[in-house]
Amino acid sequence: MRVLIVDDSATMRRIIRNNLKFAGYDDAVEAGNGVEGLACLEGADAPIELVITDWNMPEMNGIDFVKAIRSKEQLKHLPVLMITTVAERENIMVALAAGVTNYIVKPFDAETLKKKLEQVLTPA
Ligand SMILES: [Mg+2]
Repeated sequence: MRVLIVDDSATMRRIIRNNLKFAGYDDAVEAGNGVEGLACLEGADAPIELVITDWNMPEMNGIDFVKAIRSKEQLKHLPVLMITTVAERENIMVALAAGVTNYIVKPFDAETLKKKLEQVLTPA
């Protein structure tokens, strides 16, 4: 299963990639912001089945990125996991309203990511 990692920090992308590997997912592609992320989703040779995205990024942030995904017929059902430093209830409400499937608060460990992935990938 191919996963798209969207984060403006190369270090964070590497951490996420390593944690994905721990969870058994080793097919990941990366983008540095929402604009690049959309280009990956629309241009990928193999379909992307899960998106993990940061909130704060230049060009297009995670919230606008998720809104763009939800507005596209061919992408709107894609599971999106948001990783954020902001754990305030109102921010989480904003993320959910934008269409995020689930979220993780930084810092997180590989086990937490694994559990969230299982939740996100299991139909409710
Ligand atoms: Mg960021």
